[in-house]
Amino acid sequence: MSMAAAVDVKGWCPGVLRPMQSGDGLIARVRPWCGAFGLDEARGLADTAQRFGNGHIDLTRRANLQIRGLSETSVLGLQDAMERLGLVDRDAEVEAGRNIMVSPLTGLDPAEVDVRPVARTLASLLARDAALYDLPSKFGFLVDGGGTVSIAQERADISLKALGQTMAVGLDTPAGTDWIGSTSFDDAARAAVAIARAFVGLAREGGRVRDLGEERFGQLRAVARKGLGPVGDGVSSKPKRLIGVGRLVVGVAAPFGRLEAPQLHRFAALAEEVGATDIRLSPWRALYVGARDDAAAQALMKGAHEIGLIVEASDPILRIDACPGAPACRSSSVDTRRIARRLAASAFTGSVHVSGCAKGCARSAPAALVLVGEQGRYNVIRNGTTRDVPERSVAAEEAGALLDVR
Ligand code: SF4
Repeated sequence: MSMAAAVDVKGWCPGVLRPMQSGDGLIARVRPWCGAFGLDEARGLADTAQRFGNGHIDLTRRANLQIRGLSETSVLGLQDAMERLGLVDRDAEVEAGRNIMVSPLTGLDPAEVDVRPVARTLASLLARDAALYDLPSKFGFLVDGGGTVSIAQERADISLKALGQTMAVGLDTPAGTDWIGSTSFDDAARAAVAIARAFVGLAREGGRVRDLGEERFGQLRAVARKGLGPVGDGVSSKPKRLIGVGRLVVGVAAPFGRLEAPQLHRFAALAEEVGATDIRLSPWRALYVGARDDAAAQALMKGAHEIGLIVEASDPILRIDACPGAPACRSSSVDTRRIARRLAASAFTGSVHVSGCAKGCARSAPAALVLVGEQGRYNVIRNGTTRDVPERSVAAEEAGALLDVR
């Protein structure tokens, strides 16, 4: 395979073959196959991040992993390493289109359908269909096994969710997923690709399914529904986000979604010790591994805690979303994570979002307190998102005390 030109400094979804410039160098986003990295892949990623990047690894809200701090020269070394690990697609277009989230416990939780064959077929169909190279760069799919730890409530342009003996098919709307029908497991990937092709014919430049507007969305819905059966009950069941020990599964989180290379290396070793074969990623930036028994699961929790990972759902850091901020991101004038750690130490129990700028990469849902960096200060928003009108602006050094005075 010939490696693509190393650097594209623009674009919203960086890949291995098309990295993106940031404040601490280039970022390369590595997409797992079927939502998981094998343990050798995880170790290879850690080594690569250390050798060619600055050792910082981010878990993204699309259940990918980003290696930071690459240079225009070192990114070539990263691309070679990723090719050896089998984590690179044929070309940058195919890589950009492989936006598929898979529920993290599929194949691990016996109560959940193993939907990895559906995800594999979908990835293969997407790679073969040049008509889909025109999809917007963030156009995404999700494939959910229908378990209790579910990703079905996450936003994806096209969703597939196991429900009994069928897969429900959903389209993204401004109000959430519209579950429009169901199909068989064998036909689910083909149905998703057919909908994506229909979308290409209807879409405006850069827009997503939720941006189509009533008339075009109605047209897409009508085309998409052809050949689908009815949707069964329970398609909108409330999802759970496990942190800690589940049924022979352990979920751990990285503070603010940031792993350091040695931490990932060590975590892969811990996973191997408990009998796991891979590390699963999730859109809420927690990692999941299977454990051979309860004792192994407890041992993994202890080891993960010792290397600085979050192992309890009550950890206050989990209430706070914070993007990398300065100096890692060029759009930020504030050190978001320093303030976020300070806020985590308060007695406040609501949700908090600290964002380096109004783009709000770390969280799209409203939070009880939102701080948005601007010119070295923070705009303060209550019960809203980064796009809402701030009630006031505070100096960066005052922001950490905001929750202590209310
Ligand atoms: S929200 Fe702004 S500052 Fe934070 S990572 Fe995104 S672009 Fe950078």
